[in-house]
Amino acid sequence: MDYQKILNTIFLTCSSSKDRGEVASYIPELANIERSKFGIHLIDSGKNNYQAGDAEHKFSIQSISKVLSLAHAIGLVGKTIWKRLNVEPSGDPFNHLSLLEMENGIPRNPLINAGAIVIADILVSNLENPKADFLNYVRKLANDTSIDFNLDVANSEKKSGFRNYAAANLLKSYGNLKNDVETVLDFYFHQCAIEMSCSQLAKTFFLFMNHGTCQQGRTYLNLSQVKRINALMLTCGFYDEAGEFAFEVGLPGKSGVGGGIVALLPNRYCVATWSPGLNIKGNSKLGMKALEKLTTATKQSIF
Ligand code: GLN
Repeated sequence: MDYQKILNTIFLTCSSSKDRGEVASYIPELANIERSKFGIHLIDSGKNNYQAGDAEHKFSIQSISKVLSLAHAIGLVGKTIWKRLNVEPSGDPFNHLSLLEMENGIPRNPLINAGAIVIADILVSNLENPKADFLNYVRKLANDTSIDFNLDVANSEKKSGFRNYAAANLLKSYGNLKNDVETVLDFYFHQCAIEMSCSQLAKTFFLFMNHGTCQQGRTYLNLSQVKRINALMLTCGFYDEAGEFAFEVGLPGKSGVGGGIVALLPNRYCVATWSPGLNIKGNSKLGMKALEKLTTATKQSIF
């Protein structure tokens, strides 16, 4: 498969597109990102790398970090996390709150904000130096020590994260948050503020297409754990657009409001795109288009 040729064609179509969506502005620090950026990077199962556009430009991974925190929590404490979280798609936006109240403080899944805040609470309880240890875990998966938090983004979200404070307080009132709201949200805002390029992101997610074993050959998750995390990406990775992503693209994946999307085809490849303009559901407009073109051109998807 000539992945490079396919990425070049996708880049040509996407980089000339005028219809790019809107950059997220509810986190003030994210509002200044140039809308014209577009990058794509693919790593195949043989660890060959292909890229086009701004694939080495770092951006805020935001909700994409929820898959990494989930993987770390499952690796640390296993199945017990499912006592505090459900595994159903929400069909609602990432920061939706009323379901949480109707379902007595048990978040629908770990990839919406409320669920990721419960996972953050589990990591805060189980890691000695939560922020540093989590960053270290991500660096090891990526095999790249240059990966870091953007502290301006973390602070910006801390000042404007009213809905996340509401979710955390609601969780606390139902007894589903063991640590202080402030401590858990400080961790959550930092995990979302990790910056990575498409190239770093695709390499970091290599283990999810490779049975739980990262690029360096170290196994972090067993087969059953990877199967479940991929299932959650497929059904819940795009909030109320998970159906559309499965329909158009046909891969498990995860988006973030920084404009990144990472997706994977088990045993074949892992791919990351970045274009900061979002559609009304909060997913990168060009990223979705690029990935639809990829699975159409390669004639490969999980279906
Ligand atoms: N940090 C963001 C928030 O909690 C993440 C949202 C996202 O990327 N969809 O609002």
